[in-house]
Amino acid sequence: MVKINEIKSSPRDNRTAAHTHIKGLGLDEYGRATRVDGGFIGQQNAREACGIIVDMIKAKKMSGRAILLAGGPGTGKTALALAMSQELGPKVPFCPITGSEIFSTEVKKTEALMENFRRAIGLRIKETKEVYEGEVTELTPEEAENPLGGYGKTISHVVVGLKSFKGTKQLRLDPSIYESIQKERVTVGDIIYIEANTGAVKRVGRSDAYATEFDLEAEEYVPLPKGDVHKKKEIVQDVSLHDLDIANARPQGGQDIMSMMGQLMKPKKTEITDKLRQEINKVVNKYIDQGVAELVPGVLFIDEVHMLDIECFTYLNRALESSISPVVVLASNRGMATIRGTEDIVAPHGVPPDLVDRLLIVRTLPYNEDEIRLIVEKRKNTESLSISDEGLDKLAEQGVNTSLRYALQLMAPAGILARAKGRPEIGVADIEEAEELFIDAKRSTAIVQASNSNYLL
Ligand code: ATP
Repeated sequence: MVKINEIKSSPRDNRTAAHTHIKGLGLDEYGRATRVDGGFIGQQNAREACGIIVDMIKAKKMSGRAILLAGGPGTGKTALALAMSQELGPKVPFCPITGSEIFSTEVKKTEALMENFRRAIGLRIKETKEVYEGEVTELTPEEAENPLGGYGKTISHVVVGLKSFKGTKQLRLDPSIYESIQKERVTVGDIIYIEANTGAVKRVGRSDAYATEFDLEAEEYVPLPKGDVHKKKEIVQDVSLHDLDIANARPQGGQDIMSMMGQLMKPKKTEITDKLRQEINKVVNKYIDQGVAELVPGVLFIDEVHMLDIECFTYLNRALESSISPVVVLASNRGMATIRGTEDIVAPHGVPPDLVDRLLIVRTLPYNEDEIRLIVEKRKNTESLSISDEGLDKLAEQGVNTSLRYALQLMAPAGILARAKGRPEIGVADIEEAEELFIDAKRSTAIVQASNSNYLL
């Protein structure tokens, strides 16, 4: 039996990798924040404020409004926005972007903004389908370029033990299903449903007795058995509006629900146009009216919002009015700043006053040494690193003198240095060595200023 050990995540997942220890806002039933809870340390006022916003969102009292998290770098703004999406419920989309990344030569900035809006709006589609229930017993990936994302490898064969089949049988699945398997990130031991009509695969859980014994050897590809093996099951599929846009712009004739919705429109388009989006909205609204689908507004987080220009702000203002809109959380570490795209209009956080008017502003405060030490300790556990007590003190001290981010960033190289020296845990010496090798922003600025002539201008 082959196990897959390496699962490469997409770059979008990597953006939230630094926040895997965050499990929610960590509030009690009265909405109060204890100092350490939900993976969070400190920042109680901001967490409580975000908790109130989550309640307002749930009570549908946030439409047309947005949130601004204002505070220095590394004060947990991204972590708070992620925690809000977690508090809104499971599978609520979280789409983090930076103000500057919407500017490119290939895509119009408002187009890029729109794309991210649609990434942050989920659609939960419920259907009752005839399915086979099976357990993945073998999954073999082939070394290849990454055509689909996810595993980074193509799948060369999948063997599934069909539980619902009398006398349990192992089947080698038809290669046409592999794309769907890949998208669902299925691994050995997963319980899957295979749709009887289309062959679409849905991961529904893990096997209790990991890799159950099946009586028969998997033969060469055997078609799914027909007859009494089907079960009627409710299949819940979570997609974003952007997923639907892509599926419809480049229909590939796949068998999963996205491709099927793509085929509903039968376009032969290669790019996502406004018209296509409108058509998709129409289909989506129809599904919502029929009770087949439910809209799941997620969180669109725009960091460094002062990098947006006046046109983007106008767009944002308009988009917030739309009936299909995610919760927009902006973040800025600027005070008064000139609004980009204007000559000289200076406004708080570089955001135009008419947008500021719509904002609920939450402040995040710098951490003290104690809090930084606790955050470093949390990350150490998530990253499975060992650090001595003195090492933790040293990193906390660095966090205060430079930034929390820098202290967190030193952990990984210090870990490598410790391992190279055969030390079981990271000590002060490793951290000091990492500090020498990787300078922080303040020192870097000082060096550049002192030796300006050595750099290209
Ligand atoms: P920037 O302005 O540079 O974007 P930010 O305010 O968004 O920074 P984060 O990226 O949220 O800061 O925080 C940096 C790191 O510290 C992340 O790994 C985050 O999960 C962690 N962190 C920040 N605040 C807390 C906290 N109060 N408790 C636990 N972890 C935290």
